[in-house]
Amino acid sequence: MRQPQKSKFGEVVFRQKLVDQHLGKNKSFPGQPDQKQILDVLKERVDSSRKIFKNLQKRNLTLSPFLEIGAEKCQRASLLSSGFKSPGFALDISFESLKSAAYFAKKLKLNKLPVLICADAENLPFADNSLPFVFAFETLHHFPDPRKTLEEMKRVTANNGYVFFSEEPVKQTVNLPVWRRDFNLTKYEKILKKLFILPFLSTLGASETRYGILENVFPVSTWQSCLKMFEEIETIYEPVFFGPKSKVGRNNQFINPLTRFLIGLQGGGITALAKIKKPQNPPTVKNVYDLLACPKCRKKLSRNISTFNCKSCKQTYPIKDKVIFLLNPVLRKKLYPNI
Ligand SMILES: [Zn+2]
Repeated sequence: MRQPQKSKFGEVVFRQKLVDQHLGKNKSFPGQPDQKQILDVLKERVDSSRKIFKNLQKRNLTLSPFLEIGAEKCQRASLLSSGFKSPGFALDISFESLKSAAYFAKKLKLNKLPVLICADAENLPFADNSLPFVFAFETLHHFPDPRKTLEEMKRVTANNGYVFFSEEPVKQTVNLPVWRRDFNLTKYEKILKKLFILPFLSTLGASETRYGILENVFPVSTWQSCLKMFEEIETIYEPVFFGPKSKVGRNNQFINPLTRFLIGLQGGGITALAKIKKPQNPPTVKNVYDLLACPKCRKKLSRNISTFNCKSCKQTYPIKDKVIFLLNPVLRKKLYPNI
């Protein structure tokens, strides 16, 4: 199932307003982090991602050139480009989020930015078998089903490369979703939190869903069935508040019953690392830009000063504020009529 166009449009409009709030320009969403809060959130994300990337490096993964899907403000991709000296791409459907990457990288003392790509995760503008490391954090739950995006991630990953995702929610069964809450709680929600009943009566994503953004929480069974597309995979399920993690492989899908029970009770998170095998090694490229492909016909693109062009289907893809627009032209006209 594909992400509906109204959800894609919602991502664009909501994130445009949200970025302005994060930059201190307005206060559209009292429930969402303000300028100071977002910096704290991003600092935490950078610290936890640093640990994750270091662990992956210890396992001899090639981290570059990487592709991050749903990169939003690109703090993780900027960390790889700066702290790990790994060039790569940060992709998001929100132009405003990508545009804010430079501001936030500076605030987070990250001195190098990735290549910024405005595109659709369900139609990645890259050739098959091209990148050694393709990853996403907190992204797959914005789709009706994680399958299409995971298939795309697998398609563009090179032979012996890896697909990695983390911080995706897993469904809590003991939940009466009476209403949705935001990042900042209301007075009554704070009381319910103190009584330990808030997570049983409400779910996250109040502001997002008002804009048509999908805030899905897939059950373990959905993840298990989607992840069958990977021949070699390691998956970690984890309850959200307390309890043991459970690590499972491709042929050993048995999740620790206590972990599964506690996820049912509290909700949980999933992290997965899949090794990709392709019949051939990827072609060697001189420049990372040579990995880009036309989102319409997947042929190689040639670069001009302010555009990328597809000679095969005669399409032009603009570059604006250092962001390369590689959306299918029909979708681009709907989401960004002025670009
Ligand atoms: Zn083309």
